[in-house]
Amino acid sequence: MMGYLAVAIDGPSGAGKSTVARAAAAQLGFIYVDTGAMYRAIGLCVCRRGVADEDTAGIIAALDGLRVSLRYEDGVQHVLLGGEDVSAAIRTPQIAQYASKVSAVPEVRRFLLDLQRGMARENNVIMDGRDIGTVILPDAQVKIFLTASVACRAKRRYDELCEKGLTVTLQSVAQDIERRDRQDMTRAIAPLRQAEDAIKLDTSDLTLAESIEAVVRIIREKEETA
Ligand code: C5P
Repeated sequence: MMGYLAVAIDGPSGAGKSTVARAAAAQLGFIYVDTGAMYRAIGLCVCRRGVADEDTAGIIAALDGLRVSLRYEDGVQHVLLGGEDVSAAIRTPQIAQYASKVSAVPEVRRFLLDLQRGMARENNVIMDGRDIGTVILPDAQVKIFLTASVACRAKRRYDELCEKGLTVTLQSVAQDIERRDRQDMTRAIAPLRQAEDAIKLDTSDLTLAESIEAVVRIIREKEETA
């Protein structure tokens, strides 16, 4: 029996991973798994409990009885906290910062590991995150490290947040991105880094359509030789 194909897409905040991965998955008929949303859901839960993002013991306590799950509606991933769909509530800069902090706690990473690996066991997936090619799916047939300059990433994230009606400045968005990059790259557990066998794709000078096309091409080439 043919196994499933797993595509791991890692990279820093705002590189366009989720937009590119979602579109590529739709074209290829794969399931798109956004692991950042899972860390954001835990971040939201911690934030709502009034626990500080530095409070490791409080974060670990919040995991007790917590249920994070994914549901797909028309191919779109929804992330649930208990029974509540929090897909929209997790998309704020404050929750992004919480997500980055909770994701440095080993217990949190362990909490999400089975959910993430399980998705790839049962589906053709494009999974994006920070440690998918290095830790979660080290045997993924395709690994892509998607990146772009800080200026490009900040501008894209800024446009996205403005479109949602959030009031932010380009400067604050750039600072948030740099801070999260630093946190994600320097943490002790599962730091953001390019897997040795990953293909690096810098999207600074690519349009969204070109980025999607490049990713789809890489995956199709792999499918043909698999
Ligand atoms: O990708 P996104 O911005 O939604 O991720 C939010 C945060 O979750 C990241 O800054 C990162 O700290 C964390 N994360 C992670 N590992 C992943 C995905 C996200 O540590 N696989």
